[in-house]
Amino acid sequence: GCSVEDVTAAVREAAKVVCAHRDELVELDREIGDGDHGENLQRGFTAVLAKLDGGGFDGPASVLKVTATTLISTVGGAAGPLYGTAFLRASTAVGDVSEVDGRVVVSALRAALEGVVARGKAAPGDKTMVDALTPAVDAAQSTVDAGGAVPEVLRAAADAADAGAEATIALVARKGRASYLGERSAGHLDPGARSTAVLLRALADAAG
Ligand code: ADP
Ligand code: MG
Ligand code: MG
Repeated sequence: GCSVEDVTAAVREAAKVVCAHRDELVELDREIGDGDHGENLQRGFTAVLAKLDGGGFDGPASVLKVTATTLISTVGGAAGPLYGTAFLRASTAVGDVSEVDGRVVVSALRAALEGVVARGKAAPGDKTMVDALTPAVDAAQSTVDAGGAVPEVLRAAADAADAGAEATIALVARKGRASYLGERSAGHLDPGARSTAVLLRALADAAG
């Protein structure tokens, strides 16, 4: 299982890795959006790192909740409220458990996806972060059902998110700024799907 210290370390790692991908995410968003996705997330996750430095978290859920509220107040754009909602729903799903196990990870990921869908109304195939998160949840569920623990569950989620993100290249965007391009949005990787895959990979690497 993962204690509050493990979850804090994993979110810190995810925050650093997302910041390290700033330029790549900016470049992807320049192709089919307004070029700010990497900037938005770097600003948000830098603020998250500062908040986590303060410490004083009484459980894994409170780490996720502070992450959520910080992202909501700092990221902006489409992705800020979406990632904020994802972390907020994940926090609620974790509840008062002090050790996060594979089952809790799956319910947190599922809650995150449901939050993103409730907020953004995107369906799979619309060329958004939902196309990375949906297969991630399915893969995480199968892995925990097969007896996998947290590292295996997160690795399966990250692998599926990578594949789901790559598959957005072929898609025509039906949500967000990229949808303004219509058919011309095809042939480009969706920046939000890519950032979701980067986030999940960092969480998986932190879990070992
Ligand atoms: P903005 O488009 O407002 O500048 P960002 O560039 O930070 O915001 O984020 C863009 C990403 O947000 C897109 O690549 C896409 O993955 C995601 N996105 C946009 N709209 C939606 C939506 N309705 N549902 C899910 N994801 C969305
Ligand atoms: Mg943008
Ligand atoms: Mg913008």
